[in-house]
Amino acid sequence: MQHPTEITISRKALEKNLQFIKKLVGEGVTLSSVVKGNAYGHEIETFVPLAESLGIRHFSVFSSDEAFRVQSCARRDIKILIMGFLRLSELEWLVRDGIEFFVFDLVRLKAAVMAAQKVGTKARVHIELETGMNRTGFSVEELPTVAEVLLTNTEFLDFTGLCTHFAGAESIANFVRIEKQKEVYFYMERLLAQKGLTPRMRHTCCSAAAVRYPEMHFDMVRIGIMQYGFWPSREIFIEFINNRRDKQDPLKRCIEWRSTVMTVKDVKMGEFIGYGTNYLANNDMKIAIVPVGYSHGFSRSLSNQGRVLIKGRRLGVIGIVNMNSIAVDITGVPDVQPGDEVMLIGIQQDNEISVSSFSELSVQLNYELLTRLPHDIPRQLAVD
Ligand SMILES: *Cc1c(COP(=O)(O)O)cnc(C)c1O
Repeated sequence: MQHPTEITISRKALEKNLQFIKKLVGEGVTLSSVVKGNAYGHEIETFVPLAESLGIRHFSVFSSDEAFRVQSCARRDIKILIMGFLRLSELEWLVRDGIEFFVFDLVRLKAAVMAAQKVGTKARVHIELETGMNRTGFSVEELPTVAEVLLTNTEFLDFTGLCTHFAGAESIANFVRIEKQKEVYFYMERLLAQKGLTPRMRHTCCSAAAVRYPEMHFDMVRIGIMQYGFWPSREIFIEFINNRRDKQDPLKRCIEWRSTVMTVKDVKMGEFIGYGTNYLANNDMKIAIVPVGYSHGFSRSLSNQGRVLIKGRRLGVIGIVNMNSIAVDITGVPDVQPGDEVMLIGIQQDNEISVSSFSELSVQLNYELLTRLPHDIPRQLAVD
């Protein structure tokens, strides 16, 4: 059985990205590989063993189901951190298996104590601080109670981490807001320290913050998008590249998405192509039908807009993106045959379709487009 499109993941590209990130944050800073959203579309079961084989020993996920998947495919002794959702009823297995988790409310903190009492193992908690994003985290007002629970339950709670998350570090427009978040973070950290509470590790940086706010790297950085070879925003890329002598993009995309030409045909001038009257052939044309559509994650907003690569040439999608197919203008490209490779995301000869060019056209961020790649397309390791 073969899916009409194929996704490959490159170990070589990942190796390069990890080297770059390690150099960026320096020795002694743990790199937590963020693999939420099905490893940003790369698939947890494919990506985690690959990252492990390249030395990663810490993974961050959003929820307990993802933690379970990471645990199930891990081959080595690794740490898993849940940054978001879990059910209190799951705390016992999480604590028993040493899975770490963010704690941002007193209900979860107290439930962690109870689970640890029951299981007989310390719960490894990361206290998340609300510093201004207004999503999750303890407020300054709640901090004395948090401190008291931590101090009176040292045999049940391991104060593994102290953390926060910045609200949009990828845009300089948020600079003032983030400077304020930094201040609040340091203030709250001092309040805890005054009570004798110091975490094993402090961590605040996502990809964008790791580039822009190096003073906040601390003991660990939580890196998602950059390890997959994408910049968090065009702005961060430009800022980074401007400060570099060689002007080379140090990141390499790990993912390639390809399909094949299903059939080719000639269309006479004056005929419509596809559903309705959306595209009129202005000349005699040649088109290729490619078996990828919106049901495979190729957005309908790429109708008459998207680009793909065939025989190394950048070619336009014409007409409406169908559920399972698109038409591509191959007029003037010699000798396109059924079975020829169609690159939807990736490099062919000298041209590249990046997710960002793709997503700018379809008004989706890299993050969204990657995570929307269907889970049922098999991910394969690239031969590299
Ligand atoms: C998603 C996420 C990250 C990683 O963000 P990237 O921009 O992909 O590096 C880090 N921390 C938290 C809390 C997150 O939710």
